[in-house]
Amino acid sequence: MKNTFHITHKVPDHLKEAFEKHYQYQNYHRLSLFAFFLIFEELGRLFLNIGTITDEHFFLNCVMIGTVTITIPFSFYVKHKYKKDIPRLYGYIIYGIIFFTMMWCVAMTLVEVKEANNMNTLTLGFFAIAALAYLHPWVSFAFYSSATLTFCVFLPDYVMPGIEHDHYIDAVFISTIAFVLSHIIYKLNLEVYLDKIIIEENNKKLFNQSIRDSMTNLFNRKHSLELLSTEINFIKTGKVPPCLLFLDIDYFKQINDNYGHSTGDHALLDVATIIESTIRPGDHAGRYGGEEFIVIFPETHLETAYTLAENIRQNIEHKLKTTDYAITISGGIIQCQDKSVDDNIIEADQLLYKAKELGRNQIII
Ligand code: GH3
Ligand code: MG
Ligand code: MG
Repeated sequence: MKNTFHITHKVPDHLKEAFEKHYQYQNYHRLSLFAFFLIFEELGRLFLNIGTITDEHFFLNCVMIGTVTITIPFSFYVKHKYKKDIPRLYGYIIYGIIFFTMMWCVAMTLVEVKEANNMNTLTLGFFAIAALAYLHPWVSFAFYSSATLTFCVFLPDYVMPGIEHDHYIDAVFISTIAFVLSHIIYKLNLEVYLDKIIIEENNKKLFNQSIRDSMTNLFNRKHSLELLSTEINFIKTGKVPPCLLFLDIDYFKQINDNYGHSTGDHALLDVATIIESTIRPGDHAGRYGGEEFIVIFPETHLETAYTLAENIRQNIEHKLKTTDYAITISGGIIQCQDKSVDDNIIEADQLLYKAKELGRNQIII
């Protein structure tokens, strides 16, 4: 299967909004899980270091514990309220939370550099965010570069003079790798998403092909009978039984003989289009075979179905009057009974036969 999107890795315009919603939902999903781990980690740190922890460290720990405590119910609320249809505003809020977490990593790392000359939080935090959050490449670039810049600007206040260069290099290196990782993950997510869409579209197309008649695009015989069977089964539940119209084009052979087969095909398509445009939205029209069609009117009284069948007959007669081939149809209509599909079809077919005998161009009830 050829995936043309692979070449550009760009989101096609018509999928942009859907993809944005998709990854914002994923962000909320991951955030609510990640927040649980974070709260245990922060509480653990706080209790293990109790007594030795500095004020700055304590303050930053408390800020993160407070943030996570608010974030957990918030992300669950958004996820469950909007499901996969997260509004754009909440997409921006989660970006805000991610950026806040990055800046928190920067602040915590400055304190760590001063206290223990290590950059663990920046490394862990930036990589965790790159691996877990889906950031649009430009957003990711803006976040990583501004967080790194902030770190570099404040670094001289927290480190002994002379050794800051190492930290500058480390910070730039860490954030560059994290940015690249974030970009790769975004692209992978996009590829998986586009593949899923293509597969879904192809499945829909294949399913549609399997239930439709290729010439008229009405339901094919197999699917029409399945629909009829479903509707007949509803009779047991006490609903109004469906009506079944069986119709056949009059003297169709003459059209083929006089104008050729392709004109005959054209006429079949015209008839199908008129049937489709005359029936109601919940009704089902199918090509039974050759120049025979069936229409199923679910939960419909016989008088109503008869009126609709008459509308079909008259529309075909009048709309096709001006074409080369004047077409009329004959039909038989029944209210289905709780018996087999075949028996119901036979009953409607017998009425159709009667309509032919009585001179055609009529619906027999
Ligand atoms: P009646 O009024 O008794 O129904 O007469 P009729 O000529 O319509 O009936 P008959 O069953 O003798 O002829 C049906 C014709 O429909 C014969 C067949 O060639 C033609 N037909 C069936 N399927 C197609 C199709 O897909 N395309 C075309 N062009 N003709 C078709
Ligand atoms: Mg026929
Ligand atoms: Mg016929």
